[in-house]
Amino acid sequence: MNAHLAQLVKLSNFDKSIVGFEPKIKAENDKLAVFLKTVDSLNAKIEKLYVEIDDSKNKRIKNDLHLKELSYRIEEITTKYDSVKTEKESKALQLEEEIAKEQVAFANNEIVRLDEIASSKEAELEELKKELATEEEDVKEIKDAVDEVIASYDKAKADISKNKSELIEQIDQKVLTFYEKIKRWANETAVVEIKNQACYGCHMKLSDRVYREFLASDEISTCPHCGRIIYKIQE
Ligand SMILES: [Zn+2]
Repeated sequence: MNAHLAQLVKLSNFDKSIVGFEPKIKAENDKLAVFLKTVDSLNAKIEKLYVEIDDSKNKRIKNDLHLKELSYRIEEITTKYDSVKTEKESKALQLEEEIAKEQVAFANNEIVRLDEIASSKEAELEELKKELATEEEDVKEIKDAVDEVIASYDKAKADISKNKSELIEQIDQKVLTFYEKIKRWANETAVVEIKNQACYGCHMKLSDRVYREFLASDEISTCPHCGRIIYKIQE
């Protein structure tokens, strides 16, 4: 194989390897993101429960105050009974007392209901906190593993980049410029193999004549269909 071409095959393989790390790194980060999403969703649920528990407790405080007011009112009504003169007044007072007592019953029921809500939500909150703690531990474990894998990719990538730089130093400037031009649109498929008489960049078949010329030539050849640099692995 033409020495310049051999260098370009090598260079293209380095570029391919470097680019190949990106989806692998993304896959690792995506893995971690799934777990982080679960943590976020648990935190949001916990936050919502805190708000709801607070709401129940505030409503309970209001009911407690209302109960106090009602007990003063009932006391007042009781003292008023002593000064009642007419039956009409007595009936009005009775009615007032009944209403106040109904309100007391209602407030008491409401307090029981609100306490039940608060305690069931508090139990739910405890469960979620436990779940969150487990999930956070998992995230830590996965993050450590992901970081380790990504670090190994970065190291491998850096090694290849170093080899690539060393190779570039040795490549003829004209040949390199030619490669870079094709690479601008073909990316990591700037240099492709010819297999079964077809270009592995555009998958088009070379005519018998072009193929014969390609096999016979020791120059750098390009695919007549797509313009990529083509080469054949020597058997
Ligand atoms: Zn082609």
